[in-house]
Amino acid sequence: MTRQTEGLGAGIPARPGEDPEGLEGPRLAQLGTNLTAVRRRIDAALAAAGRQGTPPRLIVVTKFHPAQDVRRLASLGVTDVGENRDQEAADKAAQLPDLGLRWHFIGQLQSNKAKSVVKYAGAVHSVDRPGLAAALAKAMAVESDRTGRPPLDCFIQVSLADDAGEASAAHRGGAAPADVPALAEQLAAAAGLRLAGVMAVAPLGADPAAAFEKLAGISGHLSSQFPDATAISAGMSQDLEQAIRFGATHLRIGSDILGPRPDLR
Ligand SMILES: *Cc1c(COP(=O)(O)O)cnc(C)c1O
Repeated sequence: MTRQTEGLGAGIPARPGEDPEGLEGPRLAQLGTNLTAVRRRIDAALAAAGRQGTPPRLIVVTKFHPAQDVRRLASLGVTDVGENRDQEAADKAAQLPDLGLRWHFIGQLQSNKAKSVVKYAGAVHSVDRPGLAAALAKAMAVESDRTGRPPLDCFIQVSLADDAGEASAAHRGGAAPADVPALAEQLAAAAGLRLAGVMAVAPLGADPAAAFEKLAGISGHLSSQFPDATAISAGMSQDLEQAIRFGATHLRIGSDILGPRPDLR
């Protein structure tokens, strides 16, 4: 497959929600500048933490931004993108089949969306309950028969709020830490799913370093039971440095690369 490098998208009319400038121009330059700045922050944080070896995987969170931005990012070398709504992610993936991107589903997921998500996602970072794990396993059984696709990487989303499981402003989704072992057993036993590791969002208003330290502890327990489940998906625009300090292997960065999310809905 050839990657076009020049005049990309020239003459193609913009879709609603897309800017009309084409793929090059000021937006591409801005994304390039932002991406470079984030990559520098990552390198500096790795050096500060004394981390060597495989750097964390940068997932650029493109939710609310048009498919054209994803195409621009791909032209800048981005390989992994994150989305948090099935409909939006499915639409973008369908518009961009030629880029070889890896799509990460990072948002709260209803079980009835599992069938759709496994059609485009390489990984789901928000597995937080047995019903969702079962739905993903069932959907993958059908999808891998149909397409021979590789297993779906599953991250257990853990709640790091003190009142895990209760509705509160600080609660941002996820399984209670006590529920992680059973969920891990379930994922590890499911054909078509691969238990990758853990994911968390730092609770609002709390120290992200303390939250990510707790997550690192949970990850340590998990990987002592499941030696391949070493991934830690942690770190957003505001707290990537703290996440790197506590071992993040996957960073999910949106607004510091794409700018503020447009208010489309
Ligand atoms: C939106 C989102 C991100 C990216 O957040 P930014 O602050 O824009 O970097 C990361 N993780 C999850 C789960 C998200 O929903």
